[in-house]
Amino acid sequence: MSKIAFFCIPAAGHTNPTLAVVRALTQAGHTVRYYSFEAFRPRIEAAGAQFVACDAFNMEMKLSPHDGARIARDTAFATQVLVETTLAMDAQLLRDLQSFAPQVVVADSMAMWGKLLARKCGIPFMCSTTTFAFNAHSAKIMKQSVGELFRLLLGMPRINRQLSRLRAHGYAVKGILDVVQNDNDTDTIVYTSALFQPYADTFSDKYHFVGPSVQEKPPLPRQSGRKRVYVSLGTVNNDMPDFFRRCIRALSGDYELIVSVGDHIDPAAMGELPAYTTVAQRVDQMAVLADCDVFLTHCGMNSVSEALYCGVPLVLWPQTAEQRGVANRTAELSAGYMLADASEQGVRAAVETVLREAAYRQAAARIRESMRAAGGAPAAAQAILDLAQEKR
Ligand code: UDP
Repeated sequence: MSKIAFFCIPAAGHTNPTLAVVRALTQAGHTVRYYSFEAFRPRIEAAGAQFVACDAFNMEMKLSPHDGARIARDTAFATQVLVETTLAMDAQLLRDLQSFAPQVVVADSMAMWGKLLARKCGIPFMCSTTTFAFNAHSAKIMKQSVGELFRLLLGMPRINRQLSRLRAHGYAVKGILDVVQNDNDTDTIVYTSALFQPYADTFSDKYHFVGPSVQEKPPLPRQSGRKRVYVSLGTVNNDMPDFFRRCIRALSGDYELIVSVGDHIDPAAMGELPAYTTVAQRVDQMAVLADCDVFLTHCGMNSVSEALYCGVPLVLWPQTAEQRGVANRTAELSAGYMLADASEQGVRAAVETVLREAAYRQAAARIRESMRAAGGAPAAAQAILDLAQEKR
């Protein structure tokens, strides 16, 4: 029997896909210790793992909302937060990890402290990627903006100062790319199919494209004979009441419309709702997607994966660089239509296009098949056990 350590950031989108893998391992009799955050304790323990809280170490959780938003656009600042987190964990968790003595450390691609601690302890490392796997080829589809690149270059001296602090504590890091990126020698679980992954053929066989780790739900019953359209901008950057109002005006007359507005908006603020229109802060998205004709999405990786797993074609309205990458890939495979004009007329025209042209539905169905054939959590668990065996 093997002992496996997991590390993740405090984000549902990164934690949830790993839980089915943890369950597969613990049910087979292996011991899993999961270094995570209190908010996730119940779900992690329910999957059969030992839980170790990292809340005290994660500097990101202590940031003001303003600095929290800076993380996404200021690489030097993000590096500083990562280094602070790693060094805070170094003092406490290194001992815990060494006494647990796992055969493999599995760390989310953004929980870089897991990778750094594994390297310092000489424990084999498996990266867990809930976004696309990243290399020089797939980076093209992410199309990093000139502004972002410029900020990265300006931040390099600050980044290098932070990396020196890591080296002073015994961490062998070559440069920022060595920390944030994995090469073809790094074993990696990717929660998508090889078909959906951009440039999948440029990754080595150490990359395991296991498909999205999602839980199917019985479909939410329809209220009418109309086509069903679902609108959501995810759970984070979703405070856009005007956009939701435009969608309601554009679509509620002709379709059965479900709008998830998120926690920042009171559904009552959307005013009197027409027939067959539902507005909620949160819906059971997998139940909605189980029977849905079009999904207008912000292109979070989870939302798009869930939609394609259900074979639902998309209207793509990405808001961040990462979401643009997911949207670009979906459009490239013809499973979604990029919304260029987010006006009332633009939204209506985009939805009509996706419904009218069968190519969108067919492409979504093709990706659906690839995701269902990719092996899922059992394949991910097997890849981890193979690595444990290999390095014994
Ligand atoms: N979600 C949900 N109900 C909602 C809206 C979202 O269950 O009303 C879930 C959705 O199924 C997905 C996650 O929240 O698993 C959103 O993740 P995604 O990566 O798409 O976007 P983020 O919220 O991280 O921007």
